[in-house]
Amino acid sequence: MNTISYVFGNNLYLNITNRCMMACPYCIKHKWANNFHGNDLKLQKEPSAQDIIKNIGDPKKYGEIIFCGYGDALVKPNIVKEVSKWVKDNGGKVRINTAGLANRYHQKNILPQLKGLADAVSISLNGTNPKEHNELNRPAFGEESFDEIIKFAKEAKEYIPQVVITAVELPGLDVSKVEKIAKDAGVEFRVRPYLDENEN
Ligand code: SF4
Repeated sequence: MNTISYVFGNNLYLNITNRCMMACPYCIKHKWANNFHGNDLKLQKEPSAQDIIKNIGDPKKYGEIIFCGYGDALVKPNIVKEVSKWVKDNGGKVRINTAGLANRYHQKNILPQLKGLADAVSISLNGTNPKEHNELNRPAFGEESFDEIIKFAKEAKEYIPQVVITAVELPGLDVSKVEKIAKDAGVEFRVRPYLDENEN
């Protein structure tokens, strides 16, 4: 079953790819049998921009349209741009939830392309130093990923009005240290509860 979008609270979440730049051991992808809030997010086929747009309906019905997962939408920046432009043109607000490794993944700065299209970006940083981050999330670029994510957050401020670093209350993770990293980077911080079925 291809669940492209699902409602949670006042927002509509988009599930456009299951590919990700991290391989977090706590990701629900490792136990797909547990549906996420009643939605089966395992995609048999990645949707096109037009598939996603049709699925959204009226974006004004929601507080935000959120690119979420399980996967990282910024694996596919062209789709994110096309859908975001349509959402903005039709009166909606766009948030992108990401692992913050897209610039490294694409080997170029993709943030300028999101200017005027994304209202907010939430960047997950589950770790307080390169070693801990690598152990907790198994990112594609190993321990280098930690500094890359903080750099991504700082650069995002130039192009996206609201930039938030988020941390999940994983057992043993000192989220107050992540909060300080966010503050030092000049971005907002939000803590997320550990539900044993976390989003990116
Ligand atoms: S939890 Fe999020 S960031 Fe981690 S592997 Fe899953 S989709 Fe990627």
